[in-house]
Amino acid sequence: MKIRKIGIIGGGVAGTALGYYLSLYENAEITIFEKDRIGCGSTAKSAGTVCLFDDSLSNRYWDVRLYGFETYRKMEEEEKGSAGFDQTGTLVVATNEEVEQVIRTGIALAKAAGYQGEYITDKARIQQILPDIDTEHILGAGYTKDDGYFDGTMISNTYARKLKENGGKILTMTKVIELLKENGKVIGLKTEDGTSYAFDYVVDCTGPWSRITGNMAGIDVPVWHTKAEAFFLSPPGKKLDYVFPVLKYPAFYALRAGDNIFICKSHLSMDLNNPMHAGNWNPDEIPATGGTDEYFIEFLFEQLETTVPGILDSGLVSSWLSYRAETKDFLPILGETPVEGYLVASGYGGNGIIEAPAASRDLAKYIMTGEKTPLLEDWAFMRLVERA
Ligand SMILES: Cc1cc2nc3c(=O)[nH]c(=O)nc-3n(C[C@H](O)[C@H](O)[C@H](O)COP(=O)(O)OP(=O)(O)OC[C@H]3O[C@@H](n4cnc5c(N)ncnc54)[C@H](O)[C@@H]3O)c2cc1C
Repeated sequence: MKIRKIGIIGGGVAGTALGYYLSLYENAEITIFEKDRIGCGSTAKSAGTVCLFDDSLSNRYWDVRLYGFETYRKMEEEEKGSAGFDQTGTLVVATNEEVEQVIRTGIALAKAAGYQGEYITDKARIQQILPDIDTEHILGAGYTKDDGYFDGTMISNTYARKLKENGGKILTMTKVIELLKENGKVIGLKTEDGTSYAFDYVVDCTGPWSRITGNMAGIDVPVWHTKAEAFFLSPPGKKLDYVFPVLKYPAFYALRAGDNIFICKSHLSMDLNNPMHAGNWNPDEIPATGGTDEYFIEFLFEQLETTVPGILDSGLVSSWLSYRAETKDFLPILGETPVEGYLVASGYGGNGIIEAPAASRDLAKYIMTGEKTPLLEDWAFMRLVERA
């Protein structure tokens, strides 16, 4: 059996999941290069919601969502804490009939997979689940009890550990500075300490850094940054006396984070043409905490005023800024690129935790067998080049 050598740049959820799925093939020899620590990039700043349904990823990709949820649930079952699961349930609010229809479909799909789900129009019942919600301007809400949120960094470290158990290598604090080419084909890479490595494939899993690494391959990876600004609120009275579910409105979402509430503008409500929302920035300049804009907290407080007024009196305990790597159609880039030997698994935007298991499973299969799944066809690099 011919050995295939694969170098992965980036040790976030995308790189570690891919490394793990590749390591299930006996003839794969895998090395991950991470310039910092495992799961410390946008993965560390993630909310980690993997809900059985919501509006963040269209129902067309329901199987991707379900596979992601079930993968992490099993990971957590195997070893408690390895995926950082907090089963709070999810409440998705219907603000108009169109959203209501999407929710009803999502509930039916969750039930078809054997999970609990209900679409609730009884407002008293909605308030039982979330006492601080204002139900006046809503039609109803979908509720799934079995899901919640996970921890992207724990997941990445679990994938990394499993990869090592299967013989894969991980080099942390090792920055890739050059892609080595021969006759236009990428044949390896060079790291900051001057070492060169030969590979059959190099896979770029650097998320928000992909334009920089893409330049090393000589191409423009079409991802933009959207500002992911997360704010942590301390509710009045400090401890909530109920389980705050993952709460999804079209423009924002909230979830519990210990005794605090995490709130963030939803990624699909970001406008790639608005310089306040999107641009091309340097991800290395993001501070560990803070760095947020007044605009986002004002926007979120305005939203809370009409939706969850009960937590509006909260104090702001901390905040952070991160960049999501988004494409023009808000779907990832997966697989081959115009440069032979250089593949990309990036542009996961606001859904990388949900999408990484299914996308990495399919990309690993492509690398090891040459077979493309429908997901690889849907999320091909070339769809974005043709539209440009
Ligand atoms: C506030 C926020 C909330 C989110 N909420 C959710 C959610 O609820 N559900 C969901 O599914 N997704 C969510 N996301 C999205 C999700 O977190 C991302 O899509 C996902 O983490 C991206 O993973 P990644 O591995 O592609 O990128 P990253 O985690 O950023 O990893 C890229 C890695 O590449 C490394 N790197 C870069 N350049 C080099 C180099 N030259 N050499 C070596 N290493 C390099 C970096 O150090 C980094 O560790 C959220 C994101 C944010 C910011």
